[in-house]
Amino acid sequence: MANGTFDLDLFVIGGGSGGVRAARIAAGHGARVELAEAYRMGGTCVIRGCVPKKLFVYASRFADDFAESAGFGWQVDGVRFDWPALREAKDKEIARLEAAYQRTLGNAGVTTLATRAEIVDPHTVRLADGSLRTARYILVATGGWPSRPGFPGADLALNSNDIFDLPALPTTLIIQGGGYIAVEFACLMHRLGVRVILVYRGEQILRGFDTEIRERLATSMAASGIEVLTGTDITSIIATASGQRAVSLTSGETREVDAILAATGRAPNTAGLGLEKAGVALNAAGAIVVDERSQTTTPSIYAVGDVTNRINLTPVAIREGHAFADSIFGKRQWTADHSNVPSAIFSTPEIGTVGLSEEAARKSHPSIDIYKTSFRSMRATLSGSQERIFMKLVVDGETDRVLGAHMLGEGAGEAAQYLAIPIKMKATKADFDSVMPVHPTMAEEFVTMRTKAT
Ligand code: FAD
Repeated sequence: MANGTFDLDLFVIGGGSGGVRAARIAAGHGARVELAEAYRMGGTCVIRGCVPKKLFVYASRFADDFAESAGFGWQVDGVRFDWPALREAKDKEIARLEAAYQRTLGNAGVTTLATRAEIVDPHTVRLADGSLRTARYILVATGGWPSRPGFPGADLALNSNDIFDLPALPTTLIIQGGGYIAVEFACLMHRLGVRVILVYRGEQILRGFDTEIRERLATSMAASGIEVLTGTDITSIIATASGQRAVSLTSGETREVDAILAATGRAPNTAGLGLEKAGVALNAAGAIVVDERSQTTTPSIYAVGDVTNRINLTPVAIREGHAFADSIFGKRQWTADHSNVPSAIFSTPEIGTVGLSEEAARKSHPSIDIYKTSFRSMRATLSGSQERIFMKLVVDGETDRVLGAHMLGEGAGEAAQYLAIPIKMKATKADFDSVMPVHPTMAEEFVTMRTKAT
């Protein structure tokens, strides 16, 4: 590839999901690529996001398995959970993944630099040691960062970065927030033996998701022993003489706990990057403004992933990075499709969802049919669990097309992935009904719901 007067064809800032994919694919197309990562290769997902979180979720669910195994004839005595053992096992796996990312980039011909980088002008970046690199294109893939709440004593709260490496588990933990990170940590910490209080200022957790799913999860969390305080916020935190934290709430109450996790959202990592100087526009939330090809307002600078605050999920960042690299350095022009993106919330019970919620569908379509079911799984018959599985299909009453599928219960994340295929292919409810069930499974309910909800 011709690179004119530039040192490189592409300089990537950020070695997370989006940056790594873009760098590797661009190098595969013959581009000369360097990538700067200021912390650890792999980014949020690998180091302090999806991967360690899911490992903790697995760990936490053994609590239910041990408790429920008695109904199947097992006697499990002397069960004990060892937090340092889990933390160390997690660290080992993350180090393995980080090395694998590093190796993959090296094998692809990408030069990686363990340094912070910032933009000087539309074709130049400066590294932490002051040296400069010029590139035909710059890709900003710097991700996001946990937002810190503004109340007095907020610096006494942990954020989602800190929680992965606690030296010891707290006995009591307040989690502030109602998004998926708050909810997932509430469920997993509770099962690891921590007394959890979830404090959320909104009316119901998980804004934007299907209302019934949100309500059912909140009920289930409360039934499992998590204290869920909605319509409540933290006003201040002070450290007590005994080393605890006194947390004042808008309800007027004060709770003394060992730790607080502020999971109140993440902000795009754009501060101090030199973007404005290079003519890159940011929106009100501080995210980089991009078009559907991920091009910023400066033609030589592109941005992908959480820093653009489109859909902040790893697979989305990866697709955006891949599409950018193919379109600029390969022969294939394409864009990442942000419609019908399936997602999971790894609460226990789990949520899997794709497409429109009932509320969103009712706003955008004149006629909506709802099919739903709630049942105890076969496992629950012997385990004694009172947990109910919930499934819902949102169907366009005019075309019969399935617009959304939602599940609360074991395996819901896996189900969302499979359901996304027919939904993306514009399958109708009649198509779902024509499929033979797999018996006995829970998923068979998705093809056997016959009666419209009234
Ligand atoms: P990141 O992965 O954040 O990578 C950005 C990288 O840029 C970082 O490594 C950072 O160190 C580096 N960087 C920043 N500034 C500079 C600079 N100036 N110079 C050099 N390097 C820099 N998504 C899912 O799909 N499923 C999940 O289950 C899930 N769980 C999550 C759980 C948690 C607790 C969190 C926090 C996130 C989770 N996510 C999940 C979201 C997912 O991690 C992000 O969407 C994804 O990592 C975004 O990728 P990215 O490439 O945009 O940014």
